Amino acid sequence: MCGNHDTSGHSHHLSLPVGRAPRIPPRQLHRRAFLGQFGRGVTALAVLGPVAAACGSSPDETAGSSTTAAPDVSGTNGDTSSGATSSTTVPEETTVPISPEGTWARANLGNVSAYVLARGNEAAIVDTGNPGSAEAIGQTVVDLGLNYSDVKHVILTHFHGDHVGSIGAVLDAAQNAQAYAGELDVDSINGADVTPVSDGTDIFGLQVIHTPGHTRGHISLWDELTSVLVAGDSMNGTDGGVSGANPQYTPDMPEAAQSILRMAEFTFDTVYFGHGEPVIGGADAAVRDLAAQL
Ligand SMILES: [Zn+2]
Ligand SMILES: [Zn+2]
Repeated sequence: MCGNHDTSGHSHHLSLPVGRAPRIPPRQLHRRAFLGQFGRGVTALAVLGPVAAACGSSPDETAGSSTTAAPDVSGTNGDTSSGATSSTTVPEETTVPISPEGTWARANLGNVSAYVLARGNEAAIVDTGNPGSAEAIGQTVVDLGLNYSDVKHVILTHFHGDHVGSIGAVLDAAQNAQAYAGELDVDSINGADVTPVSDGTDIFGLQVIHTPGHTRGHISLWDELTSVLVAGDSMNGTDGGVSGANPQYTPDMPEAAQSILRMAEFTFDTVYFGHGEPVIGGADAAVRDLAAQL
């Protein structure tokens, strides 16, 4: 985001008071490395360029670094731009800042999805798909400009095999990561050292919401900074909207309904599901509508 919250006008999607942004310097990516790591970086640069230009480049930046933007969201600290300047002394090594609030990416694994949140120099993975999904999830981390070594958190929404199937391989690749799951589901997850968490636990800024019904220990994750809810299988994406837990695989539908009522109390623009297309924009209203029908 741009440095001046008073005039930028595009922070409206974040209900954040000024000054609450994390004091994490955004990761500076070397363009050459970024392109080398992943070809679609060209597209990302093309998209980022005009946005950065609209925000106004820092006066410290050297000419030609149109892909850089002032990285300090508080507007009071110029320290982070000096690092960017030093890395742009070679013209082609321009940098791409990652949003300090965080950026989500979906790993669409076919019949199920996993999600990656990059924030600062760290990443969190939510769910790991079926067995054999670790490479695709790793590519999603690279898409965000990070690597498996930057992944510090792997959070499992519940114990079903299409969500924990690659936990072993993901943890093998993400050597710096700790794994988490709801305390009532942990004992059903084999082959990994998983830390139990309960309602209200904070992991990397993600608030755990205990949302039982689909499984007893199912958790959803609410990220205030990016206004995102990751709902796992507590809800599904259907026809562009939100539907309740799948009764075929949900042993306690009344409890699942209670969980949806609970999630309807939160504020979020986007909701991500284990199954189905995300709802982007006004997602909390869609969940409230669903809750009102239960
Ligand atoms: Zn499930
Ligand atoms: Zn599932």
